[in-house]
Amino acid sequence: MDIEKSRILIVDDEKINLKFLADLLQEDYTAMLARDGRKALQLARQTPQPDLILLDVAMPGMTGFEVIKELKHDDETKHIPIIFVTAMDSTEQEEEGLKLGAVDYITKPISPPIVKMRVRNYLDMQHKYKLLEQKANLDGLTEIPNRRFFEEVLGREWQRGKRNGSSLSVAMLDIDFFKQYNDHYGHQKGDIALQTVARNITYSLKRAPDYVGRYGGEEFVILMPETPLKPALIVAERIRSGIEGLKIPHACSSVSLHLTVSIGVSTSNDYTESGPQVLIQRADQNMYKAKQSGRNQVSGG
Ligand code: GH3
Ligand code: MG
Ligand code: MG
Repeated sequence: MDIEKSRILIVDDEKINLKFLADLLQEDYTAMLARDGRKALQLARQTPQPDLILLDVAMPGMTGFEVIKELKHDDETKHIPIIFVTAMDSTEQEEEGLKLGAVDYITKPISPPIVKMRVRNYLDMQHKYKLLEQKANLDGLTEIPNRRFFEEVLGREWQRGKRNGSSLSVAMLDIDFFKQYNDHYGHQKGDIALQTVARNITYSLKRAPDYVGRYGGEEFVILMPETPLKPALIVAERIRSGIEGLKIPHACSSVSLHLTVSIGVSTSNDYTESGPQVLIQRADQNMYKAKQSGRNQVSGG
């Protein structure tokens, strides 16, 4: 498999400096070149984005300080690490650059091995940070989004739905008699059942914006943007019957010979609720209704 090279955006108004840095880094990275601030902003926003920016300070038109301010102001570009490469070497200038959010400050004349090493260090750090960020968002056992990350997505979808005036549905799913399952088959088998259920829910979700998270021990929550109650109930029923269809033996369930789930659904159409947590609470109440009505069913409204 090809490992894609990291992309470095080099910004300098002097052609000779651009060429020097590009020659230095081209072997290990993909170099993107900009001779002024406007071009730099344009390249930073295009996809794929640069992984790192080497930015000159003194440039005609926009200075490097003005460029970094714009980049840090924009949600799409503020995460890209920036190293200033500059002839200005006063500590005030350096302080100013770092205050504006640069990760480092290299002064000219440049020592090639030092530039190479610093670039490599920042890219390594960036890579590790991205991996950690991904891990921090996933549940360790089931490898689907965890509750914290799910709530972040829910908040965003709530705002988006409110803006667009589209319905937002959530479903709360809880495994039936799971304590008995663990007691009878052991905790390890319980863990495997949780993984299987998580995979099966993911498989049942056919629309890209639908989203599942592990909400608690044996509880999962499904987010369905732009979905009114009726289709949300259909999705929930598909999930319920999909899990029943796995036929995971459950000798101690009073409602079936197999592992089953109860699901509660709720929908917001007009966003009169105080926030998305109300939606979750209503789905939870409906899930308890499903439990009380005999489990292995969907309840909503
Ligand atoms: P109900 O049908 O009313 O939902 O009954 P229940 O037994 O499923 O509900 P209860 O809340 O009493 O028990 C939930 C059980 O889920 C208790 C706990 O042992 C189990 N559980 C929670 N998290 C995990 C986990 O990560 N791994 C395993 N194996 N079991 C878990
Ligand atoms: Mg529970
Ligand atoms: Mg349960």
